[in-house]
Amino acid sequence: MRLKSKVFDFIEREQRRQDSTVELIASENFVSENVMRAVGSCLTNKYAEGYPTERVSGNRGRYYGGCEVVNELEEYCCETWRKVFHTDYHVNVQPHSGSSANLAAYMSVLKPGDKILSMNLNDGAHLTHGSPVNFSGKLYNMIFYSLDASGRIDMNDVEKLAREEKPNLILAGASAYSRILDFERFYKIAREVGAYFMVDMAHIAGLVASGDHPSPFGLADIITTTTHKTLRGPRGGLIFCKPELAKKVDGAVFPGCQGGPLEHVIAGKAIAAEEALTPEFAEYGHQIIRNCKAMCNAFLEMGYHVVTGGTDNHLFLLDLTDTGLTGKAVQDELDKHGITLNKNCVPNETRSPQLTSGVRIGVAAMTTKGYQEADFIEVAKKIDRIIREMPR
Ligand code: PLP
Repeated sequence: MRLKSKVFDFIEREQRRQDSTVELIASENFVSENVMRAVGSCLTNKYAEGYPTERVSGNRGRYYGGCEVVNELEEYCCETWRKVFHTDYHVNVQPHSGSSANLAAYMSVLKPGDKILSMNLNDGAHLTHGSPVNFSGKLYNMIFYSLDASGRIDMNDVEKLAREEKPNLILAGASAYSRILDFERFYKIAREVGAYFMVDMAHIAGLVASGDHPSPFGLADIITTTTHKTLRGPRGGLIFCKPELAKKVDGAVFPGCQGGPLEHVIAGKAIAAEEALTPEFAEYGHQIIRNCKAMCNAFLEMGYHVVTGGTDNHLFLLDLTDTGLTGKAVQDELDKHGITLNKNCVPNETRSPQLTSGVRIGVAAMTTKGYQEADFIEVAKKIDRIIREMPR
């Protein structure tokens, strides 16, 4: 029986919204029809707690019958992601989200109370990097490295704090940071002080795959990512780790943090990995970099203050302090004009996270829709016109 559902009205309205707005939220993207089909497939019906048996020696396989197809699917998904990042790292494709991936990653190598050295939320990190309102800040003893005067990570401070505090784990990765992450330097510091080195590449994973950002593989002990940002897959997470940590990571995901994996999402992740292996995906990554630099330069030429003075990746932060406007006011006004982005704290933020003094601008989603440099420059000019007309 098919019920006439009100939900399809919501879906149609949301589709119209997505088709008619300029999407500049740095963590969003548009998946392919194939990913959409997989996520909406019969795989959603299947319970498959556990892992395909042959995957990690010592794991106990699945806890349900009828898993012969999903076993092959999950193996294929793992194999394809390893190809994307040219790696022999172990991979777990079951985390339901980036936050679940980070929770499991910490749980695999840390005990509650252990020390993590990471970036502060207000400086561009994610909630799961130690915010006091998140499990990470409640369970672990957090220490935060600082930014230098230009807004870049102060690697000398990372080194100094690591030597003084001897953290158990050093984390590199961010949600609102526009510069290359110096994985080599982080790695050397972590090795020197005997800390695990973890990278959360959620935002930049697509650029790592396309060769537009240095890769953490071969350096980091554990790498987490979401699959739905620059990677352009379904909403979900992945964890990669050096082979010697495989059992710990798998155990931390299941039974440590999760029950049954979302096999329909794992199917979508496998398709995203197939897509990430194509030349078109590499070109998309290169175009993201060209587009982001073009848009960022347009704002700089119009006199805007860009945090760090530019960008190396798919996003940048406008510091609106000089304009007297809050990030929230600009976000709301742009919404009215069909331009979607999000308010964001800037370094040394004086306003609350609900208001903020900046906005974060990302180009991945509209690059997927085919926007080129000239289109992004036009959008920058439109945003400038809207901002200039806002009442002070
Ligand atoms: N890690 C980083 C760096 C992120 O930016 C995000 C999300 O924005 C996450 C983890 C969490 O991902 P999710 O929203 O899937 O839990």
